[in-house]
Amino acid sequence: MEIPYCNFYKLHERYRDEIDQAIKIVLDHGQFIQGQELTAFEQQFAQFCGTKYAVGVGNGLDALILSLMTLHFEPGDEIIVPANTYIATILAITHNHCVPVLVEPDEHTSLIDPTKIEEKITPKTKAILVVHFYGRAVEMAPIVRLAEKYHLHIVEDGAQAHGAQYQGNRVGHLGTIAGFSFHPTKNLGCCGDGGIVTTDREDLANEIRALRNYGSIEKYVHICKGFHSKLDTLQAAVLSVKLRHLDADNAIRRKIAKFYCEHIHHPLITLPVHPKDELEHVWHIFSIFTEKRAELQAYLQSKGIQTVMHYPIPPHKAPAYPEWNQLSFPITEKLAVEELSLPLHPVLTQDEVEYIVESINQWKV
Ligand SMILES: *Cc1c(COP(=O)(O)O)cnc(C)c1O
Repeated sequence: MEIPYCNFYKLHERYRDEIDQAIKIVLDHGQFIQGQELTAFEQQFAQFCGTKYAVGVGNGLDALILSLMTLHFEPGDEIIVPANTYIATILAITHNHCVPVLVEPDEHTSLIDPTKIEEKITPKTKAILVVHFYGRAVEMAPIVRLAEKYHLHIVEDGAQAHGAQYQGNRVGHLGTIAGFSFHPTKNLGCCGDGGIVTTDREDLANEIRALRNYGSIEKYVHICKGFHSKLDTLQAAVLSVKLRHLDADNAIRRKIAKFYCEHIHHPLITLPVHPKDELEHVWHIFSIFTEKRAELQAYLQSKGIQTVMHYPIPPHKAPAYPEWNQLSFPITEKLAVEELSLPLHPVLTQDEVEYIVESINQWKV
């Protein structure tokens, strides 16, 4: 059997007619930039998250950069962030001339450890940037308490967790402002690059609308030094179709994750921990951990099973940030060398899932 990590053709084949029709409508009217499908999708996504506003941008990194920009931090302001996130979260902070203050994750959830945040707060701290990593919503209650106590903004990186819920609220509606990515691999992905910002604050939404369009909302009037980063009408049209199926797709992901957790048994493999409330997790990534990762990956490849790593080099070890390369974050570093992501997506068949489980259980080291 050959099982790729993702299968984009099969993913879209299920509602190909709807997507073809949505694309045809845009090609027919020709409003490729800021067409009505963009406005419609923004409203749908805001409604989905429970926020008042959503503003489409070019990609997830821009969604985070522009979100932070609307909060007008001073150069050198500090932003608390998990040390084990994807580099884009960190880039968004440093492109805003702020200082990422890295906090270790909880070893079991891979999410920022809320008990290690307060010790990192200084008079310069202005925000906590939470990352709903691997698709799991961060335990917000302790973080909200700290944000209130120290008057900090909460900003969300929801790029891996479209649809995840924390105590009945969706990711994207758990802080001041949130950024999402629609990269094709994400739970809600388009056919190219895309992103969006969600917020309840009208002033911030308007600022994003200006920032994404050369600093202009009204034609010819440039109110700030903006960028150029809009979500295409075509991508918005595709995303409207896929958003209708997102909850169902996430439910399939949960079922597969549950099957993996119940059936994978290997003394050298640690499985991810299920949250008590299953709606907290949308299983963007199914991570297993082993000290023998290279061996397991090669073995699975020999069985035709493609796996990937999220992520083998943590941001503080990246050549892009030489000033941090000597810092030590032991939990982050351990997760980085042990993590292996199994295929998990809504078009994985039961046969494939069982084959993956059997192959892993038969792994002889
Ligand atoms: C994918 C991702 C991003 C960046 O999104 P792009 O659309 O690829 O720019 C940011 N943060 C996290 C956690 C991600 O997984």
